[in-house]
Amino acid sequence: MTIRGIRRALLDLLLEIGRESHPREFAGVLREEEGIISEFSLLPGTVTGGESATLFLDMMPLDTHLAGSAHSHPNGVLSPSQADLSFFPRTGRYHLIVGYPYDRESWRCFYADGRPAELEVVA
Ligand SMILES: [Zn+2]
Repeated sequence: MTIRGIRRALLDLLLEIGRESHPREFAGVLREEEGIISEFSLLPGTVTGGESATLFLDMMPLDTHLAGSAHSHPNGVLSPSQADLSFFPRTGRYHLIVGYPYDRESWRCFYADGRPAELEVVA
């Protein structure tokens, strides 16, 4: 399935979860419906004090509608860490990072190898 974009409402939700979790990190997985990333599942127990949250993603079951992952960087740095680059390839193709201050510019999308990915925001 080719991913064509992400729902505006979902992106807003991710930014809101980031805001509410701050200064802790959250992590979860993204699912697509007909090529649009439209669902997010917060992984239980992932909101922790640091990058270790993302380690939970290693335990995700296989899911054919899995589009990728989303997590927050409370420090506001919108680029993948070394830990991120090790779990990205295991959880799909598109990986969102949202960061402080969690406004509509406070997110980036990356491919599993860490290259920036263009992702259209759709209504
Ligand atoms: Zn990260």
